[in-house]
Amino acid sequence: GGVVMAEIGLIGLAVMGQNFALNVAEHGFKISVYNRSYEKTEAAVKRANKEGLGDNLHGYKDLKEFVGSLKKPRRVMFLVKAGSPVDATIESLRPLLEKGDIMIDGGNEWYENTEMRAKKLEDIGIMYMGMGVSGGEEGARNGPSLMPGGTPEAYQHIEPIVQAVAAQVNDGPCVTYVGPGGAGNFVKMVHNGIEYGDMQLISEAYDVLRTVGGLSNEEMVEAFNEWNATELDSFLIEISALILAFKDEDGQPLVNKILDKTGMKGTGKWTVQQAAELSVPAPTIEAALDGRFLSGLKDQRVKAAKLFQKLGATEPKPEPGVDKAALVKEVKQALYASKICSYAQGLNIIKAKSAEKSWDVDIGSMARIWKGGCIIRAVFLDDIYQAYKRNPALENLMMDEEFGSKLVNSEKAWRSVVIKAINAGLAVPGFSTSLAYYDTYRRENVPANLIQAQRDFFGSHTYERTDKPGQAFHTVWDPRN
Ligand code: NAP
Repeated sequence: GGVVMAEIGLIGLAVMGQNFALNVAEHGFKISVYNRSYEKTEAAVKRANKEGLGDNLHGYKDLKEFVGSLKKPRRVMFLVKAGSPVDATIESLRPLLEKGDIMIDGGNEWYENTEMRAKKLEDIGIMYMGMGVSGGEEGARNGPSLMPGGTPEAYQHIEPIVQAVAAQVNDGPCVTYVGPGGAGNFVKMVHNGIEYGDMQLISEAYDVLRTVGGLSNEEMVEAFNEWNATELDSFLIEISALILAFKDEDGQPLVNKILDKTGMKGTGKWTVQQAAELSVPAPTIEAALDGRFLSGLKDQRVKAAKLFQKLGATEPKPEPGVDKAALVKEVKQALYASKICSYAQGLNIIKAKSAEKSWDVDIGSMARIWKGGCIIRAVFLDDIYQAYKRNPALENLMMDEEFGSKLVNSEKAWRSVVIKAINAGLAVPGFSTSLAYYDTYRRENVPANLIQAQRDFFGSHTYERTDKPGQAFHTVWDPRN
């Protein structure tokens, strides 16, 4: 007797798991850890001892002993690679757990996988949760944003721990119960899609400043730091300034030497696929994904650059006599307005999925739990949270009058930046498609009447009339028939 059982167990001690485990231990919870290959367990224990957390963190080589060290109902979280490694982990644990125990997958898992696993495990009385964890290594160690989904009962069992380890902001911990089934994974996926959008928009701001404005890296650092003291205050703007300021060993900016070809792991693509499945327009996030695909065509772009230069295409170059300070102000407005559009789209994807699945996700609370810990953390998220507090049923973020006014006030600068870029032959797909989203959304009459007539012409798909609503009409359009 006298052995203190662990409050939680964690399987998977790569970057995320090791840091998350130390975070849990630091908050006074006893945690048992296990990893398929033992070296990582040893490394975690060594780190815990070094940081004075050895009393709260114990490593196990044997899975049965690991499970035996856990207080009942047992809470076992995993931070392993998504997909089959999660299935392998569940299979190894299943015979060792019993009715009432809880498994929590903290990886970037496809939400339907979580739902399938939950269903299977429900039959044997094991509660299964999918919990999005954001913030990378730093977040996992010092406070991530957590997006747990599953049954409310399962959530109750992990609530005290996740509330303690999550990032803390002015209105509490960056965690809340997201919804049943795969809701937590889904919201994390969209968070990543929004992250793609933010990164694309910031890269376009950088491109306009350097290419149209001819700003030096130092001048851009100054601009980004200035923006970071305004409503654009965010982690991604902050790190972009640090990146632009970073010098290589030879004193040259390191960022200028980085190959312009982006990597990705799939959550942005899933977000765009889901937007399409749900018929939710998400052009800014789609532009970000396409931007990554186009960046991947480096070899083709190198050849095309040569060909089109020879053919006399427009060469992006600084505008003669450009007013740099004025351009910085304009680009900031374009970035901010486009960001509003991007978040409106991401939140609408969550809203549509929640309606389809009856998840009842509180959209405003998602903005709240993203205020700290995660990659998209920003002052802006509090404004979104407030907008949904004013009207929880908000159809589109742009329809909140405060955000609406911000868009209107940004219009002139936003259009000016897009026009300047287009005239210079410089693509700003995020800025321009966001502007098109805004311009289309706020227009009563779009030219879809002609499309409906065409569809009826060639496919007898019928159309509705504005002067005789509620009926379907078909016309023989071709006078030659
Ligand atoms: P990772 O590289 O995704 O996964 C490595 C871990 O998975 C190791 O513990 C590894 O064990 C285990 N693993 C791999 N195949 C396995 C198998 N067949 N059976 C059992 N275990 C297996 O690690 P990570 O970067 O720390 O990420 C963990 C999860 O968090 C992932 O889902 C990731 O997408 C998500 N995530 C990551 C970040 C980030 O910034 N890295 C941020 C948010 C979320 P061995 O040591 O034995 O190989």
